[in-house]
Amino acid sequence: MNIQHNIELKPYNSFRTKAKAKLFSEPKTVEELCQVVKQYTNEKILILGNGYNLFFTKDYNGLVIHPLMKGINVCYENDKVVDIEVNAAENWDDFVAYCVANNYAGVENLSLIPSSVGAVPVQNIGAYGTEVKEVITRVKTVNIESGKQKEFTNEMCEFGYRDSVFKRTGKYIITSVIFRLQKEFIYKPKYKDVVSELAGIEAPTMADVRNAVVNIRTRKLPDYDILPNAGSFFKNPFLTNDEKESLLRLLPDATIHKVNESCFKTSAAFLIDRAGFRNKRNKMVGTYKNHSLIIVNYGTEEGKEIVDFMKEVQKSVYSHFKIWLEPEVRVY
Ligand SMILES: Cc1cc2nc3c(=O)[nH]c(=O)nc-3n(C[C@H](O)[C@H](O)[C@H](O)COP(=O)(O)OP(=O)(O)OC[C@H]3O[C@@H](n4cnc5c(N)ncnc54)[C@H](O)[C@@H]3O)c2cc1C
Repeated sequence: MNIQHNIELKPYNSFRTKAKAKLFSEPKTVEELCQVVKQYTNEKILILGNGYNLFFTKDYNGLVIHPLMKGINVCYENDKVVDIEVNAAENWDDFVAYCVANNYAGVENLSLIPSSVGAVPVQNIGAYGTEVKEVITRVKTVNIESGKQKEFTNEMCEFGYRDSVFKRTGKYIITSVIFRLQKEFIYKPKYKDVVSELAGIEAPTMADVRNAVVNIRTRKLPDYDILPNAGSFFKNPFLTNDEKESLLRLLPDATIHKVNESCFKTSAAFLIDRAGFRNKRNKMVGTYKNHSLIIVNYGTEEGKEIVDFMKEVQKSVYSHFKIWLEPEVRVY
């Protein structure tokens, strides 16, 4: 078991903020992982995937575990479905490409989301009308306190919008995820951007959908290697009926999606725009010119500057529209 000390975390987060981990471990097997957890029971532990959804504001005074378990295995199949177990350190988009190449349907709308496979259940990644919970059947984990293994069914994961039991409790290290994919692909026009990208193709294939999503994302999102960022910074807020009515009085053209009779969702990007933060920059941090929901780093190594900008946006949106934006990105 190899434990490293004082490891720089800047290369491990896509915002490229500086911080050091007191202890750092990269287990290559579940057994190694259990051993590390059992040995360091007195240390606080942070699980690090590829660092696309978190950044650091200070040194991490504990143990950072960066799982390195690789492997993709078909564990069951029949004429209609295939179950595939994928280990935590596999790259998510490589897995999507593998599914599309093998005609396994279900994840093509989630193309190009930067992630390790171990992190996808944590915030139930979603895009273009699809959430990953729709294809997850089981999640294998190790308990962070006891080092014991535990398997979760889909129901036990308590998936919600950018949420799960893993995110809420922070108690489980995901070692592998079992996905159920369909062998027959039926094109469902789910999302307007994808539908317009596919205009002109009479019967889109799974590969067409993947290409469309890749093209849209490449046009719309900043390249984190050039402009460090963590994707959508805030969650889209849910509103009660009264909150929705008050918002519509202030912003009659606000986008409102009905979730059910008493719950509505609005667009955080729209609120940020209308609060005056479209393409706004404060020193080295700002909103991305093509998408106000993305906060980009123009050159600071200090996570605190990103937090200061985040608070500025939250306060301004609140003072205009009485809605408090919750960050989707994790701050450490
Ligand atoms: C340009 C860009 C675009 C994005 N677009 C989308 C999008 O369309 N939809 C979307 O949903 N997200 C999007 N994101 C966010 C990001 O892709 C996801 O949150 C992704 O799952 C993060 O994966 P990661 O491996 O980098 O996890 P990390 O950022 O390393 O970790 C995220 C959280 O998961 C925990 N975690 C990581 N691995 C494990 C594990 N094995 N076991 C337990 N906990 C773990 C961490 O402790 C942390 O709390 C985007 C990000 C970027 C930079």
